[in-house]
Amino acid sequence: MTKYIVVTGGVMSGLGKGITAASIGRILTDMGYNVVPIKVDPYLNIDAGTMNPFQHGEVFVLKDGTEVDLDLGHYERFIGVEVTGDHNVTTGKIYMSVLEKERKGDYLGSTVQIIPHITDEIKNWIRSVAERTKADICLVEIGGTVGDIEGMSFLEAIRQMHNEERDEDFALVHVTLIPLDSGGEQKTKPTQHSVKELRSLGLHPDVIVGRCEERLLLSTKKKIALFCDVPVEAVISAHDAEEIYEVPLIFKEEKLHEYLIKKLNLEKREENRTWEEMVLKLKNLSKEVTIAVVGKYVHVKDAYISIREALKHGGISAGCRVNMVLIDSEELERFEDFQFDVDGILVPGGFGHRGSEGKILAITYARENNIPFLGICFGFQLAVVEFARNQLGLEGANSSELSDTPYPVIDLLPEQKEIDRLGGTMRLGDIEVTLKPDTMIYSLYGRDKIFERHRHRYEVNPEYIPDFEKAGLVFSGYSDSGRRMEVLELPENSFFIATQFHPEFKSRPYAPSPPFAGFVKAALEHSEKMKG
Ligand code: GLN
Repeated sequence: MTKYIVVTGGVMSGLGKGITAASIGRILTDMGYNVVPIKVDPYLNIDAGTMNPFQHGEVFVLKDGTEVDLDLGHYERFIGVEVTGDHNVTTGKIYMSVLEKERKGDYLGSTVQIIPHITDEIKNWIRSVAERTKADICLVEIGGTVGDIEGMSFLEAIRQMHNEERDEDFALVHVTLIPLDSGGEQKTKPTQHSVKELRSLGLHPDVIVGRCEERLLLSTKKKIALFCDVPVEAVISAHDAEEIYEVPLIFKEEKLHEYLIKKLNLEKREENRTWEEMVLKLKNLSKEVTIAVVGKYVHVKDAYISIREALKHGGISAGCRVNMVLIDSEELERFEDFQFDVDGILVPGGFGHRGSEGKILAITYARENNIPFLGICFGFQLAVVEFARNQLGLEGANSSELSDTPYPVIDLLPEQKEIDRLGGTMRLGDIEVTLKPDTMIYSLYGRDKIFERHRHRYEVNPEYIPDFEKAGLVFSGYSDSGRRMEVLELPENSFFIATQFHPEFKSRPYAPSPPFAGFVKAALEHSEKMKG
C-alpha cells in the first residue's frame, strides 16, 4: 500500500518548496523507503521543452527524454532516483488526456466537467504512477501557491484523495513563509492566512514547514500550532541553510521524520548515513577553485542549476569548494583582449547565434593557455568549430545552426535535413555511448559503455572527422554505430574534454558525474601549480 505525502505552498512562490519536498524524500529514503516523487505544474504547457530559460530557469532532461521543470532535478539528486515523464503532471497533460478520451467517446455522452472528469484523471494519474513504481511513499508537490486559480483542480483532486485514503496513508505538508518584521520578530500572520485559504478548500495541513531566515522560536511554533490547529511538534523550522544539502539534516534535527513515522504509521528503521557523511565533507572543504561558466543566461539565477550542482559534486570528491562565476559570453565579444583568472573554463549547453562567438573566444583561451576545459553539448560543438577555425585553418567554419558557412563542421545529418520543422526533432534522453579505450574519458568512467542524457539537434559533420583527427583532436566517444561523435579531447592539454551529452543531469552529491569529477580535480591541480 502506498502512502501519500502532498506538499503545498502558501504566501508566495520561490520559498524553496521543491527543496523542502526533496529533503522530505531524502529523510524517508535514508530509512530504506522507496520514495517516488511527482511534481505537479499547474500550467497549460504539455512539458517544459518549449519554455524559455529566461523565464523558468533550466530545463531538466529525464532519462526517457522528457523535458521538465528543474525541481525534478532536485528530486533526482536528493532522492537518488531516476524518474520518467509521467512524474511531471501538467494541466496541459491532464486536459489533453481528458479531451482525447472525450473525442474517442469514452465518456459515453455525458457532460465532461472539471469535477469529476479532470479531478479523476489527476487522481488516476498519481495513483497509477505510485502503483507502477511500487512506491512505499509517493511524494506529490503541487507547484504554485494555494489560492492560485491554476492550481484549483489539483487541490480539489487532493481533497478527494484525502477523503478516499485512510488517515494513516495521507499527510499534507504546507510550506509557508515566516517573515521577520523590522524589529526582528518572527511573524506568523501570513501563515495563518494561507492555512485559512487551504481550509476553505477543504484541506487541513498535518505538518507546517516555516521558511524563515532564522530558526523558528518555540513561541513562534506554539503560536502557529494554536492558530493553525496542528501539534507543536508538527511545526517544522526550515531556516536558511548555507548549503541546500543541509536541509534534510535540519529536518532530522527538527524530528520531522519521527512525526511522519507516527502520522503515517511507518515502522522506524535504521538510518543510512551516506547523506550526512557527504554534507559533513562538503562543509569541511578547505581548498577552493574558481570555475568560469561562459554562457548566455548569466542573469537568470536558476539557468545553470544542474551544472552548478555537478561542479559542487565534483568538488566534494576532489576535496575543494567550487566557486562558480558566470561570464556573459556576449560581453566577451566586446573585448580585444581578456584574461581569465580562473582554474577552469566550462562552456555549457545553449542554442542560437547570440553570444556564440564569445564562447568560442573562451575556448581558444582555454586551449592556448592549457586551462582545464569542459564543454557540454553546445560547448562541445563550439570546441569543434574553434578547432576547425584555428587549427585546421578553415576560416569562417561554424555550425549550420548559427550561420551560413562554407565549412559546416557542425551540421544536421542528411535525414534530419528533410524534416521541415523544429518541434519534435531533438535527440533527447538516455542514449548509449561507446568510449574508446586508452582515452581520458575512458579512464574517467572506467568502462566503455555508458548511458548519458542528450538534448540536441546538430552533429559533428562526418566529412571533416579525418582532418580533425589528423590535426590531433581525438573523438573518444561515439554513438549510433559511429555515425555520431559524442566526446572529444585534446591529449596535448592537461584537461580538455567536451561531450555532446549532458553529464550534469546524472550527477549526484555522493556520486559525482565522472567528467565533472575529472574536471574539478584538474582545476584543483591547476590552481595548486599556479600557487607554486
Ligand atoms: N544548439 C545545439 C543543438 O541543437 C546544442 C544544444 C544544447 O546545447 N543543448 O544541437
